[in-house]
Amino acid sequence: MPKVKKCPHCNEDHSIMFRVQYKPADKTWYFLCEACVLEVKPGNSHYRYGGTWKG
Ligand SMILES: [Zn+2]
Repeated sequence: MPKVKKCPHCNEDHSIMFRVQYKPADKTWYFLCEACVLEVKPGNSHYRYGGTWKG
């Protein structure tokens, strides 16, 4: 069984997560799933990628 994290954007569990910052004035690193990264990334000047987590 792969480990999973819950994506705070879609509230679903995933075994591959992307460590990103994407909110204005928020330096918190969030673990988002790929679908949510693709949703928050386009045109987002606050987006930073910090690595991939595999469960
Ligand atoms: Zn998600």
